[in-house]
Amino acid sequence: MAGFWTPRLIMTQGYCEYTCSLCGSVCPTGAITDITAREKIERPIKIGSVYVDRGRCLPWSGNAPCIVCEEVCPTSPKAIYLKKETVSRPGGKKLAVQLPFVDLKQCVGCGICENKCPVKGLPAIRTISAGESRSLKNQILLL
Ligand code: SF4
Ligand code: SF4
Repeated sequence: MAGFWTPRLIMTQGYCEYTCSLCGSVCPTGAITDITAREKIERPIKIGSVYVDRGRCLPWSGNAPCIVCEEVCPTSPKAIYLKKETVSRPGGKKLAVQLPFVDLKQCVGCGICENKCPVKGLPAIRTISAGESRSLKNQILLL
């Protein structure tokens, strides 16, 4: 019940637009801090982090090449970086791919990578709240 009526982001339906801070401007109670888009990017404000599910990710699992998450990541430098590798396809053939890795220090948890990942049902890259700016206790990396 503690989270009753609390807004929740479902990244498969939508994501946090990197250059937008409208939620803070329209929130009538001040529950979301009213900051400018520039402040949001420059601090940066993080709403979480992502992790790659290697069992579902197309290049990690050897099923197909894919770099969609790296392409859509809006941060600079990008929070997704790629490493060229040759993996075994199901059936044994070799496949040249670029494997995605997440730089947790750059990731702001915007969720566009989860939203655009071509793996449907449960995307192969998923957003969690850990790493958020509002709580020093909910961190992945040791500070
Ligand atoms: S978009 Fe999805 S399937 Fe493609 S590389 Fe990223 S995590 Fe893997
Ligand atoms: S959530 Fe995905 S797209 Fe957004 S900053 Fe993190 S890695 Fe980049």
